[in-house]
Amino acid sequence: MGLGQREGVPARRFGVFGGTFDPIHVGHVGVAEAARHAVPLDLIFFVPAARPRLRSTAPVASIDHRVAMVRLAVHDLAWARLSMVDAVRPGPAYSVDTLRDLRLELGEAADLYLIFGADSLTSLPEWKNPGELAGMARLVCVGRPGSVRPSELPPGHPGRGAMYVEGPMAEVSATVISKRIKSGKPTTGMLHRSVARYIEQNRLYR
Ligand code: ATP
Repeated sequence: MGLGQREGVPARRFGVFGGTFDPIHVGHVGVAEAARHAVPLDLIFFVPAARPRLRSTAPVASIDHRVAMVRLAVHDLAWARLSMVDAVRPGPAYSVDTLRDLRLELGEAADLYLIFGADSLTSLPEWKNPGELAGMARLVCVGRPGSVRPSELPPGHPGRGAMYVEGPMAEVSATVISKRIKSGKPTTGMLHRSVARYIEQNRLYR
């Protein structure tokens, strides 16, 4: 069966979920799952970025480790795939480039839905070519505790037209997880079991 095809029916609605995934956690998978049900989507690509944009600090784990952790987290999810487009492209990862590369892979018939957490909403005007984004994909914003909704943004803001999905509202973040590991605190329930095992085996975030 080809990529995105189930029972002979071509999948047309693809989610695109980019991030640092340093490490991927249950909040990420919860966000993707919420978007999948709400839209609904046939398949979601998790797209780890070698060099994320708009971040003052470099990722802690290497791109090879972050890719390996995403692969483990999506392994048992029939509706999820790892995409390498932002892991292999040199330079910072911009969503317009991610969408252009995935469009080339998936073809013109594909409907693309760019998924992001609501904390990313306010910074949308600072993304590369934000005006182009809405023409390349439908924007899907999933709620994050403490973050605004598209309807609360000022008129003319490029995020106002995003579809809003409430989602699981998980109070989990990669930064908190990596700090907890560094200080020897437990991360119970925050990570997929195989990801936690991988971190342990490779002594990441110590
Ligand atoms: P950080 O600790 O640096 O905030 P992060 O957990 O947000 O990291 P990223 O890889 O930067 O991880 O996030 C990728 C995407 O997932 C972003 O669009 C972010 O908004 C979203 N996201 C991550 N965690 C959550 C969460 N708990 N709820 C909603 N969205 C989330």
